[in-house]
Amino acid sequence: KKYTKADIQRIVADEDIKFIRLQFVDILGALKNVAITVDQLDKALNGEIMFDGSSISGFVRMEESDMYLIPDLDTFVSFPWRTHQSKVARLICDIYKTTGEPYGDDPRGVLKHAIAEAETMGYAFDVRPEFEFFLFQTDENGDPTTITHDKAGYFDLGPMDLGENVRRDMVLTLEEMGFKIRASHHEDAPGQHEIDFESADAITMADQIVTFKLVVKVVAQKHGLHATFMPKPLSHINGSGMHINMKLKDQNGKNIFYDAQDPLKLSQTAYYFLGGLLAHSKAITAITNPTVNSYKRLVPGFEAPVHIGWSTSNLSPLVRIPTVRGEEALLELRSPDPSCNPYLGLSVILKAGLDGINNKIMPPEMMNSDQLRAISNILSEDTLPSDLKEAIIELSKDPVIKEALGNVYDSYIKAKGFEWDAYQKQVHAWEVDTYTSRY
Ligand code: GLN
Ligand code: MG
Ligand code: MG
Ligand code: MG
Repeated sequence: KKYTKADIQRIVADEDIKFIRLQFVDILGALKNVAITVDQLDKALNGEIMFDGSSISGFVRMEESDMYLIPDLDTFVSFPWRTHQSKVARLICDIYKTTGEPYGDDPRGVLKHAIAEAETMGYAFDVRPEFEFFLFQTDENGDPTTITHDKAGYFDLGPMDLGENVRRDMVLTLEEMGFKIRASHHEDAPGQHEIDFESADAITMADQIVTFKLVVKVVAQKHGLHATFMPKPLSHINGSGMHINMKLKDQNGKNIFYDAQDPLKLSQTAYYFLGGLLAHSKAITAITNPTVNSYKRLVPGFEAPVHIGWSTSNLSPLVRIPTVRGEEALLELRSPDPSCNPYLGLSVILKAGLDGINNKIMPPEMMNSDQLRAISNILSEDTLPSDLKEAIIELSKDPVIKEALGNVYDSYIKAKGFEWDAYQKQVHAWEVDTYTSRY
């Protein structure tokens, strides 16, 4: 444990913090918060602050509208930037019902449940994301455009990479907030950037992911730019992924995915985990790739996965085994995109892997480079869902992944049903361009 209530009270006084934001996420992964003044800090730390959940997406049952915010003290951090001249700190909270039970539609609670299941099997889940995003220019009203902020490419540097200063500012701000940044670089597409941080246990990481997105947006805005985590903002260039590198550790913190005897240095447990990930990959896509737009990224030719398979090569398999070994041995799942709710995403990924271990699911043979290069056939069975609707149908057919979502499942299906419906009713620019003259 990092902080006690007294520690937090002391820091708030020392740093002259005026407001505390009590944060949580809705089922779509959007960060929500209630700001309180320092006068209410005691009450907040004791978990006595209530909010009305009835108007938050996914938190829809009116009879349960009053809920408690129970802060996780270890998530306390003060924002390095000021809001209206005041210093602000935040605490991420778990949501409880007035009856004292955890609220079933709280994504953080869903992840805690999955982690508890791993714990009973003797495992800790350790994850590390690679974050990609675009920086776009804003128009005279400050609204985002889709004009990329630069014209640079993979690993380019200044003065070509105009994002360098913005990225540096992001990294420094994140470090001030306790992030350990591994790397940051310009990505392949113009205006596209990547920032990678060090691994952490899944709850800490999900908290860090929502914080990361907030920081990136705040810093971009300070530079007059708009940062977007939309998976595929522009048609003819790469989209943005949120690759997840993962491993299981035992009680002593040892990486159990490593086995020196194996040709790929992976343990039997790692192969089963991989087998589970692949076996459930269609269903988990509904969570890791949650928007209509997510599926515009999962197409051939843009370094995003399409086929369900794994490989040690860099040619965009769904799961890649990077060439780092020993304590670093891990699996990299390349399908998730940064629009995913990280709490739910990590829950279903973990659950899929644990199911592989429980049922000794062996992965298929590794894909070769010809298979990885092949353009997918529209009828092929071994590909990820091609749109949100297909993904939701796959989810509905997978009892293991449904169970991982608990109560959230119903609310999620409902929210995504509305989203799909709204999208499907639209006539899109491509259709008009293609069909008005042809027919
Ligand atoms: N942007 C690619 C994706 O959509 C990944 C590119 C890379 O990191 N090699 O996943
Ligand atoms: Mg990377
Ligand atoms: Mg990348
Ligand atoms: Mg990667």
